[in-house]
Amino acid sequence: MNKKVDGVSSGEPRDNALAYLQYLKSIGIEYVEPAQTPDNAATNELASLAGEVAECKSCTLHKTRIQTVFGTGSPRAGIMFVGEAPGADEDKQGEPFVGRAGKLLTKMIQAIGFEREEVYIANVLKCRPPQNRDPRPEEVAACEHFLVRQIQLIQPLVICALGAHAAKTLLKTDDTIGKLRGRFFDYHGVPLIPTYHPAFLLRSQQSKKAAWEDLQKLRDKYHELNG
Ligand code: SF4
Repeated sequence: MNKKVDGVSSGEPRDNALAYLQYLKSIGIEYVEPAQTPDNAATNELASLAGEVAECKSCTLHKTRIQTVFGTGSPRAGIMFVGEAPGADEDKQGEPFVGRAGKLLTKMIQAIGFEREEVYIANVLKCRPPQNRDPRPEEVAACEHFLVRQIQLIQPLVICALGAHAAKTLLKTDDTIGKLRGRFFDYHGVPLIPTYHPAFLLRSQQSKKAAWEDLQKLRDKYHELNG
C-alpha cells in the first residue's frame, strides 16, 4: 500500500516527483532551488574562476593568446597534475595537455589505473607564452593565484608537478627537476611529487623509467590516503 504524505502518493519515483511539483505549484511555489552538494558547489566555483581567468589581462600573455586554458578533469579529483603552460595545441583547443605530450600524459595516467576524466589537469600559466618560451617570473607571479585557488577548490589528496617550472613554482626552489623528482614534498598540507614533463619524456626515452617509478609512488600515495 502507498503511503500518503501531505497529499502526495509515494508510488513510482517519477510519478512521485511530478505529483510533488504539482503540489508545490498548488500552494504557490513556482521554483525550487537545486540542492547544493559539495561536488556541484566546487564545480560552480571552478566555473566562476574559469570565467575570471578568461577575462584576465594581468600579464602581457593576454595579448598573444587565442584563448585561456583553465584546466580539465573532475572537480573532486584525488590526483591533480600541474604542468607549466599551454602550448600551441592547447591555445587552439582551450584544454591542457592535448598535443603529443598530452597523449603521453593520458597514457601515463592510464598506466596507474585512472582515466583522464578522473584526475584534474592544469598548468601554472593559463595563457600560452609565445613560441613556447619559458614562463617569466612576472607572469608566474601574476597568474599563480588562479592555480592556488584551483587547488583549494579541488582539494586533491596528492599533486604531481610535471617538469621543472611547475615544481619550482609550487615548491619555491631553484633545484633542478633531476634533483626534485621522485620525492614527496609538502604543498600546504598536500603531498606533492615532481616528475619529468611529458614533453621532455618524448625527447628522452631513457628518463621514462624514472618517470614510471615516480608515477607508481604517486599512485601508492593516493591509495594510502584514500584508504
Ligand atoms: S597568463 Fe595568467 S595572469 Fe597572464 S593574462 Fe593569462 S590568465 Fe592572466
